[in-house]
Amino acid sequence: MAAGRHRDRRTPGRVRRPLPWRRNCPNNGTATSEGPRRSGVAARTRSASFPPVEPLHPIPGMSDIMTDASRSSDEVLELLRASGARRLRAVRLRSNRSTVWSLTRGGSQLNLHRAFAAAPEEVLEDLAVIARAGGLAVPEAREASRRVSEWAPLHRELERIRAEPRRAGRPVGPCCATSDQLGYLRRMYRYLNRSRFAGRLPGGVPIRLSGRMKSRLGHMKPCVVDGRRRVLEIAINADLMLSGNDDIRHDTLVHEMAHAADWLFDGEVGHGPTWQWWATYAGCESRACTTSRIRQTPQGSAVSRVPPLPLAARVLLDADG
Ligand SMILES: [Zn+2]
Repeated sequence: MAAGRHRDRRTPGRVRRPLPWRRNCPNNGTATSEGPRRSGVAARTRSASFPPVEPLHPIPGMSDIMTDASRSSDEVLELLRASGARRLRAVRLRSNRSTVWSLTRGGSQLNLHRAFAAAPEEVLEDLAVIARAGGLAVPEAREASRRVSEWAPLHRELERIRAEPRRAGRPVGPCCATSDQLGYLRRMYRYLNRSRFAGRLPGGVPIRLSGRMKSRLGHMKPCVVDGRRRVLEIAINADLMLSGNDDIRHDTLVHEMAHAADWLFDGEVGHGPTWQWWATYAGCESRACTTSRIRQTPQGSAVSRVPPLPLAARVLLDADG
């Protein structure tokens, strides 16, 4: 047990992780546990995205922003730590289209929009408040995030980046699903949307399987596009496709769909009262964590199983055509 895992005697060859399993959803006060980067896409936990705004003036390029005041990521890290963000071990500067900051690796890495390399001291102090709080869990951090989001050069840079063509098919994270597994997940989403959410959720929400989740079962990523709330993706732990994990797979999918409903209809993230209302409405466990036993593949193994659709799903979807 010292290594944090042990062999599950009932399922030889498989390992079981310590409980509880977490549904790591936005702003729920938990940290990411995804493994190292494999495809250049960072794991995100608490993050902030902002809608486009009307440019105040002709949009400058980065060269207009990156003045002599621009800093390296290490210099930004040093300033943030000097402002009290002592948990931070790394800062990564990125040219995102909408995400302006995110905390990963248990709150020790702050991923910042590249525009912040030239941010004035007061903006960096607000970022230090967010990093110190480990996200948006406290009012002070939420207020700091609001001020950060209003920094005009950031919006100008976002506008410039959005004017560039988006790379087609760019994934949010690596998806390890086979085409049959994706077909299953999409059909389950349609079925659960109809049967648990009265069809109120949008169709076509991207769903992927993650082989990198170590102690999480899934997540829902919110975003804002053209001023409207959207669902960037729902991701599910690939181990949930194993036989024996059927109940927890269904519950996790409904859990994340409840997050989607909470975000789209109530503008909320996390496991607060509105999410609990949706969870109860849809009939999933209304808790962030679960103590259910989860079967796992040995580390590094792929999961190719495609679970059978429930009979009720086949009937409903066949009737839909
Ligand atoms: Zn959750």
